[in-house]
Amino acid sequence: SNCLEFARPFMTPDNKISECVEKAKVPLNILLVGAGLGGLATAIALAQSGHKVTVFEQTPVLGEVGAGIQVPSNSTRALFKLGLEPYLKPYVTEPETISFRRWQTGKLIGNTKLVPDFTEIFNAPYYVIHRAHLHSALCQKLQDMRIDIKLGARVESYNSVAGSITLADGTTYIGDLVVAADGIKSVARKVVLGGKEMAFRRPGFAAYRATVDVERVRNDPELKWILERPALNIWIGDSRHVMTYTIGAGKAFNMVLSHPDHTDPSTWDPRKAVDDMKAEFVGWDPVLTKIIGLVEKTLKWPLISGSVLDKWVSDKLVILGDAAHAMLPYMSQGAAMAVEDGLALARSLSKIDSKEQLAESLSIFENVRMQRAGQMQEASLLNSQLWHFADGPMQEARDAAMIPEVKGLPF
Ligand code: FAD
Repeated sequence: SNCLEFARPFMTPDNKISECVEKAKVPLNILLVGAGLGGLATAIALAQSGHKVTVFEQTPVLGEVGAGIQVPSNSTRALFKLGLEPYLKPYVTEPETISFRRWQTGKLIGNTKLVPDFTEIFNAPYYVIHRAHLHSALCQKLQDMRIDIKLGARVESYNSVAGSITLADGTTYIGDLVVAADGIKSVARKVVLGGKEMAFRRPGFAAYRATVDVERVRNDPELKWILERPALNIWIGDSRHVMTYTIGAGKAFNMVLSHPDHTDPSTWDPRKAVDDMKAEFVGWDPVLTKIIGLVEKTLKWPLISGSVLDKWVSDKLVILGDAAHAMLPYMSQGAAMAVEDGLALARSLSKIDSKEQLAESLSIFENVRMQRAGQMQEASLLNSQLWHFADGPMQEARDAAMIPEVKGLPF
């Protein structure tokens, strides 16, 4: 089968989790920590369900760093369910295909057809978008729903039994439930795990993220073919890959450049990032290296996977998003899983008839989501091997399995 077809597994058309935001019979007072992509989507899902939600975010100004993000169909479907479609539409690009290419020549070795297949099968399109646009779409929706958000509100401690949080300024808030979407460095996770820190898995990769003005690509006769139709292209080679697509409604050419890196991020020098990035891909397809040559600024991210946890809930405290299931970005599903978490939590809570049933409801949420997100964490790790074979028998076998899939395609 198509072993490079990374987008399709786990996206079942009958995935009911992301199919409805039901009205809660028992509206709760919910304190939600973290206004990242996961926290915002969860706040919207819970508020739509009829709960009173207050969001606490440590940064004084809302925003997202980085460049592009893929919004796979399972995520788009969930976001549409939350009413995000009109907020997203002005900013998204819908790639027609995901094309895997040989690192040295750019030759097509594998292909996944997204248009119209994904909309037909999964009832929602596969999008790419600038992170900042996705984040601001969620913020706008939050504002339109009049969900209360407190900025510059850093949560210092949690009391899971009381359902309370205490901020850096000493103020304590008490709710029926505390939801922590506080990211990979989560403080809440430590509380849930009884004071222990999760074991991180650093498989030894880092990624540069960069954008180039799309006109610079279009104006080069050797490069312009890549813009002939909206597409996701991934060059794969020994321990490295480069993923490209356009964002900003087609105005920016986005790249994620993944490569081996075992060094300590605190030693990284941002002033050297552009040169270091270029050095990583010397000898790769001349088309790709020409585009990389256009990059004027970039930043490097360490790629970290969390372990698959066996606990997301402690009394009235629940973690979700990267706090619960950080993963390598090799399935493009980290934020997608966080969005699904939000809908799943809203759905579980909508089933309770009294506050006494809260624990049972959280336990169902935990079981269902731990399994699905755990599979995605493992699949992302698997892709770090599958995509990164050095030239040789494994790579040849992998590429040979792709050949029937690419016949008849224009390039
Ligand atoms: P975060 O975005 O980390 O948000 C946590 C928030 O909590 C922050 O705003 C933080 O300030 C706040 N916070 C933390 N502690 C406190 C505190 N004590 N008090 C108050 N506030 C606090 N995912 C995809 O779905 N598709 C992709 O294509 C994709 N590509 C990726 C590419 C790369 C290179 C990387 C690194 C990741 C990628 N991901 C992708 C993963 C995705 O970015 C993350 O899974 C997602 O952003 C996690 O969202 P979150 O809300 O759980 O956490």
